[in-house]
Amino acid sequence: MSVFNKILIAGPCSAESAEQVARIASALPDGVIFRAGVWKPRTSPDTFQGAGDQALSWLQTVDMPTATEVATPDHVRKALDAGIPYLWIGARTAANPIAVQAIADALAQNLHKGVRPQYVIFPQILIKNPVNEDVNLWLGNIERLEAAGANVLAIHRGCNHRPCWAMAFELRRRRPDIPLLLDPSHMSGDASLVAGLCQQAMDLDYDGLMIEVHDHPELALSDSKQQITPDMLHDILSHLTIRENTAADTELLALRHQIDEVDDEFWSLIARRMQISGQIGKYKQEHNIPILQTGRYDAILQRRLQWAAEHDISQETIQQIMDAIHRESVRIQF
Ligand code: PEP
Ligand code: MN
Repeated sequence: MSVFNKILIAGPCSAESAEQVARIASALPDGVIFRAGVWKPRTSPDTFQGAGDQALSWLQTVDMPTATEVATPDHVRKALDAGIPYLWIGARTAANPIAVQAIADALAQNLHKGVRPQYVIFPQILIKNPVNEDVNLWLGNIERLEAAGANVLAIHRGCNHRPCWAMAFELRRRRPDIPLLLDPSHMSGDASLVAGLCQQAMDLDYDGLMIEVHDHPELALSDSKQQITPDMLHDILSHLTIRENTAADTELLALRHQIDEVDDEFWSLIARRMQISGQIGKYKQEHNIPILQTGRYDAILQRRLQWAAEHDISQETIQQIMDAIHRESVRIQF
């Protein structure tokens, strides 16, 4: 556990030299797990692909637990041989179940090698969300790794430089036992957005953070726009508000009770609406009128979007809800 009682993984996107690794590690707060990519999955072959095997020995000089990315069985063997106790699977690899299974198989055969009693009793495997927004794939990857005997944690790193909250919440709903971390660096791609996302992660009771930190972000060989300095990291940590878990708070329980009542009313109204929809469907059938009347739906939607703007409710959300209701109405009328 780090300074703020959650898991904190921090360090550069890539290990660039022995000196860079040592400099950044020495500037990080106590309790941090030091991250650095050794083999980098880059979009273009013309960019820095990571320092490769030589960087493993740089990580061995760091006086804190270390983490690196693995994308192949060979990476798994080499990282565990080098005594790196935290291995993460990146978002691109996480999109490919065959690659994840190959990593899981390598883990099953090599997990014992990573045991380093001074830091952790067992290697920990962190799996990022796949780049495509597919919670079942993320869950499937977790199952593959668990079946290999690994201790698994999940990292929400967003999709297309944006959070994909719905996927992360669904993962937590289905696997509340899996610690969930947030990676604000890859989630935003922008150093100026990292602090806000860290606070959001705390507000949502995430179990930790993975943050890219470089002592000279502007000179970083990869992801230079999103890396923050060690000073910025200290500043973020000192300003984070960590909320208490107030599940047993009586005032909160009373408010939740009110929400349950409103929900009951809301769903009864939806059921009534669907019933009327069914009657309309019957009428259309008897009078040979087509089911889909786009002009009518568009008018309902426009009225509701205008209403949303007046009531400070996101138009995007209203549109999604209205689309779902309309889909169900059309289904009922078939
Ligand atoms: C990384 O953590 O350096 C990385 C490549 O992340 P992602 O797989 O989330 O893009
Ligand atoms: Mn990176």
